[in-house]
Amino acid sequence: MKRTSFLLAILLLSLSTLLAQDTKMQTFVTDLMAKMTLDEKLGQLNLPGAGDITTGQARSSDIAKKIAAGQVGGLFNIKSVAKIREVQKIAVEQSRLKIPLIFGMDVIHGYETEFPIPLGLSCTWDMAEIQKSARIAATEASADGICWAFSPMVDICRDPRWGRIAEGGGEDPYLGSQIAKAMVQGYQEDLKSNSDILACVKHFALYGAAEAGRDYNTTDMSYYRMFNEYLPPYKAAVDAGVGSVMASFNSVNGIPATANKFLQTDVLRKRWGFEGFVVSDYTGISEMVAHGLGDLPTVSALALKAGVDMDMVSEGFLTTLKKSLEEGRVTMADIDQACRRVLEAKYKLGLFTDPYKYCNEQRAATQIFTADNRAAARKIAADCFVLLKNKGNILPLKRSGTIAVIGPLGNNRINMVGTWAVATDGSKAVSVMDGLKEAAGSGVNVVYSQGSNLDYDSLFEQRATMFGKPLPHDPRPAAEIIQDALNKVANADVIVAALGESDEMTGESSSRSNIEIPQSQQDLLKALLKTGKPVVLVLFTGRPLAIKWENDQVPAILNVWFGGTEAGHAIADVLFGDVNPSGKLTTTWPQNVGQVPLYYNHMSTGRPLEGPWFQKFRSNYLDVSNDPVYPFGYGLSYSHFAYRGMILSSDSAKGNQRLTATVTVTNDGAVEGREVVQLYIRDLVGSLTRPVKELKGFKKIDLKAGESQQVSFTITPEDLKFYDNDLKYDWEPGEFTIMIGGNSRDVLSANVNWRK
Ligand code: BGC
Repeated sequence: MKRTSFLLAILLLSLSTLLAQDTKMQTFVTDLMAKMTLDEKLGQLNLPGAGDITTGQARSSDIAKKIAAGQVGGLFNIKSVAKIREVQKIAVEQSRLKIPLIFGMDVIHGYETEFPIPLGLSCTWDMAEIQKSARIAATEASADGICWAFSPMVDICRDPRWGRIAEGGGEDPYLGSQIAKAMVQGYQEDLKSNSDILACVKHFALYGAAEAGRDYNTTDMSYYRMFNEYLPPYKAAVDAGVGSVMASFNSVNGIPATANKFLQTDVLRKRWGFEGFVVSDYTGISEMVAHGLGDLPTVSALALKAGVDMDMVSEGFLTTLKKSLEEGRVTMADIDQACRRVLEAKYKLGLFTDPYKYCNEQRAATQIFTADNRAAARKIAADCFVLLKNKGNILPLKRSGTIAVIGPLGNNRINMVGTWAVATDGSKAVSVMDGLKEAAGSGVNVVYSQGSNLDYDSLFEQRATMFGKPLPHDPRPAAEIIQDALNKVANADVIVAALGESDEMTGESSSRSNIEIPQSQQDLLKALLKTGKPVVLVLFTGRPLAIKWENDQVPAILNVWFGGTEAGHAIADVLFGDVNPSGKLTTTWPQNVGQVPLYYNHMSTGRPLEGPWFQKFRSNYLDVSNDPVYPFGYGLSYSHFAYRGMILSSDSAKGNQRLTATVTVTNDGAVEGREVVQLYIRDLVGSLTRPVKELKGFKKIDLKAGESQQVSFTITPEDLKFYDNDLKYDWEPGEFTIMIGGNSRDVLSANVNWRK
């Protein structure tokens, strides 16, 4: 009792401190705004690109003059303390009210120390590690002057054609929500210290559902799907206190997200209680002219009215809102509200107290790209690799004989870092050759040959490397390049084929209609297999690829995504067995692109395929089964884990009772390993058709060889809830199947009847 009252007192005290801080901030901002002219208020809503790094045509010119005139609220993608200090100085010394600027950047999966691409990170299923990666990114970025990261990107995606699938956490709303929370906490912590930076959850909303996987394309969706399957990760970021939200480019049910009041105000603020500010995406406001919503004044007014507070690059707010105010298209209250939200963010970051809080040359010199940060990146990279196949235990490699590294990705550094690695110097990354040579030791001979170009189609090659990160191009005929490789492998004991996508074949504006390994590399792989030597495919990709043929033919496949700065070291760690792979896929890998969208948590149809493919008048294809090559949650290890003896604490439950589901997991392999134990639930009968299974929990466990562990999950009615089309969020009584396994396909199950 005493303890409870003590805790209550602490809670009340912290609540009152928070309230007092809030009131202090409100008063400060109110006083400041009372001094501001309309033009100065509009200036705070303006976010031009700094011109260092841009994704389109930077529209703003003569930024320094604008800053001095109070026409700029912040800048993004400007790198170095020196430059940031210089422009901040203009803002706080030359502008009338000395309001500091906020500095944003696409800090997506690291700063100078790059971690694996987000899709790779998600495959660790390790929230502590993911949070740590965001923390290190925040520490490095803030040491270099940045106080705002355009991350996490939490767009659920079920379509591997979409290039930006690389930037998100995969296809599952539950896992995606855990990741969103971990990232926000990693970046922001409590926003007090000078290494805490503001996060920006993006792209709100449904950007990952772009039709046909073509970037920026339309989305159209029922509330049922939107609220249960796509919105949860954004909500999780808001619940975790994210400071800002970025509106997405796409339209949602006919209205571009940037002008979508339902999303930006009704859902985000009224339903979820978001209190930070909303920024448009890059030219997201002016692009609504092409969406067909009207001219720049019209779309700018629409965006403000919908709840967008800051305009990235378009300068529609800066140049048109004054007139729109005169014409009554927007109100002073609309402008004040947006201005207040931007100023509050600056206040929370502590910029009014010290505009140079993030400009510390000492930190810049000592906290970026450090040995510790690189060691953390190496560990997490090794943990995100997914062992897709290992027939005959070809892996791990022995430290003897000759290893032939073959393929356009085998001896390349800059392609290791992955898409959206804007702050790093890719040439400092570790290649497969660097890593293998270092780890192999002097007794092993490691040889290399490129073996093929990225693709036969040189125009495709050029398009896929538009940001200037090409793979080496060998102008000779393909047969000659392959022959070179065959000469190199003649004396090898094992072939490591480093193939797949270049790192810019995924990311923004890198959608593909063919999701196979490019033909030139497939031909190389065939030639390598023909030699009869053991082949390990080290697969680079930013998306799920269609590799049915490779899975049938190649004995060992390790998927390594784009592992970041330390990729090559981490690849060597796993190939030699110094680290036992434990990554699990967070997306379904289809057999071919025609099956897309293919995802594990689909609804049942009235004619589901039960039993073997093919059956007439059942929901299946004539030419391919419904199965994926690899299901969601899948990934092998150098150990083997057996699941036995699933037990529920009861086969019936009532109301808010708790149910425990337990399974025994045994490592019956020869080495210690880590396993991600996954819990799925199916609601068998509902007022709406329900998914065939949904992830509801997971645990990552370490097991020594021969060791067994009982793994339990507690299930409550919270885990059974869903939104209906009227947005009522509740659970319905009835029969549920509880499933536990090492992936979404291979599960043990038991049923429970849950009454209200
Ligand atoms: C992307 C955003 C990014 C922004 C700023 C846009 O093209 O969609 O994800 O944060 O550019 O660079």
